[in-house]
Amino acid sequence: MSEHRSVSQFREYNRCPQAYYLKRVVRAWERPAAWLPQGTAVHAAAEQWEKSGRLMPLMEAEKVFRLAYAESVDALSEVTPRHDFWMSSGRFKGREDIHRRFDMGLAQVGAYVDYYTRIAPEEVVWTPPGAGPIIEHEFSLDLDGVLVKGFIDLAVYRPKSGLVVRDLKTGTDPGDDFQLVVYVVALQDEFDVSIAGGDYMMIRRTKPTEPFRPKPTRVFDLSAWPRTRLVDEFGLLDESIRAEKFDPKPDKATCTRCPVRAECSFAA
Ligand code: SF4
Repeated sequence: MSEHRSVSQFREYNRCPQAYYLKRVVRAWERPAAWLPQGTAVHAAAEQWEKSGRLMPLMEAEKVFRLAYAESVDALSEVTPRHDFWMSSGRFKGREDIHRRFDMGLAQVGAYVDYYTRIAPEEVVWTPPGAGPIIEHEFSLDLDGVLVKGFIDLAVYRPKSGLVVRDLKTGTDPGDDFQLVVYVVALQDEFDVSIAGGDYMMIRRTKPTEPFRPKPTRVFDLSAWPRTRLVDEFGLLDESIRAEKFDPKPDKATCTRCPVRAECSFAA
């Protein structure tokens, strides 16, 4: 079990095995996008704010965001200094999008703090007996010999639902529950506790002129996902990667946003 698997490996491989190969095996150049620093920096600010027991002043959380955003943009710029080579987001070209997403991320940090202090303060972070609060919690899940590792953003009590795992999203709705299932099984294994399900905390702009409105999505019903299904899914992923099955899956929508498209000869 030397090489571990993760939810992001699972997603990337299933989207296009060739993209997985170019990114993780060849380590080909990846076209950066400003939504990456935005996501990283909002997560960093949320994590620090949660770890302060939700006592950190908003200005401090914004400072964490600013620093993390700058660090992330700098790191990506070291490899790709020409921002006109970065991905566009709709009509916004790379350079413009970097500035735009700084403002968006900063507003999302404010919305995050506002949600838990004013809108839903009853949604408190879960602290398992004998452990620290589940904030950016590192887990290691053994699925019949395939080791799956990752981090869980939060586990919170949700009124009427109970204990749920929660993943913070700064972009569009992920549309599936796979990630949440992995987190639920991982926490249940580690702490021998019953978890009601999982949700996504969506922080996004409803209209360009209105403030962000964070909202947890519905609690996903994870009963269709017994542990054996996860064992099968990750077992197949592990087997396919070890067998070097990296067939391309060209598709216009996927290829357009593919970060290794420039290195691929199968792009749709
Ligand atoms: S451009 Fe399309 S086919 Fe090529 S690696 Fe990316 S997603 Fe796969």
